[in-house]
Amino acid sequence: MPSLLITGAKLADGTTTDLFIADGVLADPGSAPAGVERIDADGLIAIPGLVDPHTHLRQPGREDAETVDTGTAAAARGGFTCVHAMANLTPVTDTAEAAEFVQSLGERDGHCEVRVVGAVTKGLDGEELSELGLMANSRANVRVFSDDGRCVADSLVMRRALTYVKSFDGVIAQHSQDPRLAGPTACCHESEWSGKLGLPGWPSQAESIIVARDVQLAELTDSRIHVCHVSTAESVEVIRWAKKRGIKVTAEATPHHLLLDTPLVAGYDTTFKVNPPLRTSEHLEAIREALADGTIDMVGTDHAPHARQDKDHPFDVALPGMIGLEQALAVVMEVMVNTGRMDWPTLVERMSFAPARLGHTPTQGRPLAIGEPANVTLVDPSARATVDAEQSRSRARNNPYHGRELPDPVMATIWAGKVTYRR
Ligand SMILES: [Zn+2]
Repeated sequence: MPSLLITGAKLADGTTTDLFIADGVLADPGSAPAGVERIDADGLIAIPGLVDPHTHLRQPGREDAETVDTGTAAAARGGFTCVHAMANLTPVTDTAEAAEFVQSLGERDGHCEVRVVGAVTKGLDGEELSELGLMANSRANVRVFSDDGRCVADSLVMRRALTYVKSFDGVIAQHSQDPRLAGPTACCHESEWSGKLGLPGWPSQAESIIVARDVQLAELTDSRIHVCHVSTAESVEVIRWAKKRGIKVTAEATPHHLLLDTPLVAGYDTTFKVNPPLRTSEHLEAIREALADGTIDMVGTDHAPHARQDKDHPFDVALPGMIGLEQALAVVMEVMVNTGRMDWPTLVERMSFAPARLGHTPTQGRPLAIGEPANVTLVDPSARATVDAEQSRSRARNNPYHGRELPDPVMATIWAGKVTYRR
């Protein structure tokens, strides 16, 4: 493996250093041989490789939308060295064999580490627990379980799942959506907008009701719950309450719920159809505040690639979801760092350390120190560009930031000592 010397990089804490990468780890820069390949990082910030707790890679099953190859290439372009592959694949990742298959796809095709998320229930049916223990003990070493795309709506099933995963320190990552209050047709934040546009409403309480139930079940079972894609002010209040009580709850916010608001759907552009839906500005403000103060622990992209034909429908029947790996860091910088709400050490906590802890990924989310795995993202804090969906490394084009001017920070991504992206 070639070695690499990065000179003059600033770390998140503001200090300047050289980083010497040899044999996949960070080594003493003083030991770098003369003539070693160099990257001049003057003016750049070096941060630990980003970790996404919530990625849809679509393989196996929908390789026309994304593959492990294209999805993880997009991840590398976005500064990620690890993604967690959600279980709503075809077949669903609900057995040890299926988990090991996704694991092996990641090892074969991945441009970053692929950690497998297992389904909570068989076939995501919400009724019968899947092979949680066998997936945990498999070669995929699964620790995060989620029916994401669907909510585990039955309280007893949720209680059993939380109880079961305790024995191997697993966590249930919930897609919080009361299926009666916000059914399969709900696609617009319930507000004056859903009324005006004639779109089925998705009330914010359909999320917070499930969050409130789940944190209480986590308390009852003394187990760990993770709330996916928090999108409402009410959910933030519940999570704040639960944390104060000592309940083991973590939560994530997506980049799009930090930046994009309900009025964007007024043109019925299905690129902006996502589940949970884009919310109004007071909710966005609550999510930003919660991500800054740590009530929301981490950023999860919910990168959801779709083939064109699945978006090319009337708004209420098009598939929900938007891609997000390549612009995640840009959006967090724009909304949180460039506005002074968040400093770089906190960004590293929210986008690398916290998601790595959630997923029990020991070689990810580590400080940039000698002896640590060489997972490094080099960031130009001042570069900006207009997003062009056609330039994406993802196979999909449902990019909600197309045409928007944003930071364009990622200069290089290094995963386990290998350069996986370089501008
Ligand atoms: Zn979801």
